[in-house]
Amino acid sequence: MIIVMRRDAKEEDIQHMIKEVESANLKPTVLRGTERTVIAVIGDERKMASMGGVESGPGVDEVIKVLAPYKVASRETKSEPTIVKAGSLTVGGGHLGIIAGPCGVESEEQIIASAIAIKKAGATALRGGAYKPRTSPYSFQGMKEEGLKLLAKARTETGLAVVTEVVASEDVELVSEYADVLQVGARNMQNYRLLEAVGKSSRPVLLKRGPSASMDEFLLAAEYILDAGNQQVMLCERGIRTFESHTRFTLPLASVPYLQQKTHLPVVIDPSHGTGHTPLVPALARAAIAAGADGIIVEVHPNPEKALSDGYQSLNFKQFEDMMTGCRKVAAAMDMQLA
Ligand code: PEP
Ligand code: MN
Repeated sequence: MIIVMRRDAKEEDIQHMIKEVESANLKPTVLRGTERTVIAVIGDERKMASMGGVESGPGVDEVIKVLAPYKVASRETKSEPTIVKAGSLTVGGGHLGIIAGPCGVESEEQIIASAIAIKKAGATALRGGAYKPRTSPYSFQGMKEEGLKLLAKARTETGLAVVTEVVASEDVELVSEYADVLQVGARNMQNYRLLEAVGKSSRPVLLKRGPSASMDEFLLAAEYILDAGNQQVMLCERGIRTFESHTRFTLPLASVPYLQQKTHLPVVIDPSHGTGHTPLVPALARAAIAAGADGIIVEVHPNPEKALSDGYQSLNFKQFEDMMTGCRKVAAAMDMQLA
């Protein structure tokens, strides 16, 4: 159930309704928008007095039953878009975030050169994995804390916010010390303990869709983070597994308008993992922006041929610069601000 407060509701009215919800042993999640406040009620609503009773509470405008299994993530709960902010990165509500950088941090030289080049080309945040979840245990696993330190150094040198993956709940605290945004990777989308842990963190989260997860499962994974108290969540479509093999994954761009219809959370597209082939990345980045995406996350490496992971889908600096020229034109046509 969603309790929509009137525009002129007083703080004491809001507090009164919160107490009402709590006294019925239900959990209120308060979403304060610029226009009005709503209280999402999670739990068995039958514990609460009749819907009519709640509706006549002080400052209450209306009470809506939520049909979607995800409550806090739903557009029914909050109609205005959520804007995620982390240092130089702003995503949502007309702001287009461009997150770029290597798949993994490999050396000081590599990450600093990448940060400088992507910033010059117009990126608004730096990506780079320090903890790499790899399909094979024999592949490069990342530089771990050493990599986090190099990311922080790249932020100091360029002012770019750092987006980096956290693969285990016990690492959330350490990664949060260095990162501006915590990335939860596709392989971990249904690691519910990790979702709860990032939900308790004060850092915004970039949640990637599992390659075989349905949209409802994706949104329920986001719901875990929101329910734990963190409202700064970005949803990232990075492609799903299908019978098709001409691309590494199949990148469904319909996810953008679909998710924007169902949720207020910003949607980010990953054309690198979504295609798995460098030559296909720029076109899909442009298409994502044209479809209304709030951000893109792209792999860029000083020398993709020598990359320790995902070189075959990474852009070199010149290719990224050219991609940005195209993206800027589409962004302008879509009235999106690069910031
Ligand atoms: C990555 O961003 O490098 C990554 C591992 O992505 P995904 O979790 O989408 O596979
Ligand atoms: Mn990668």
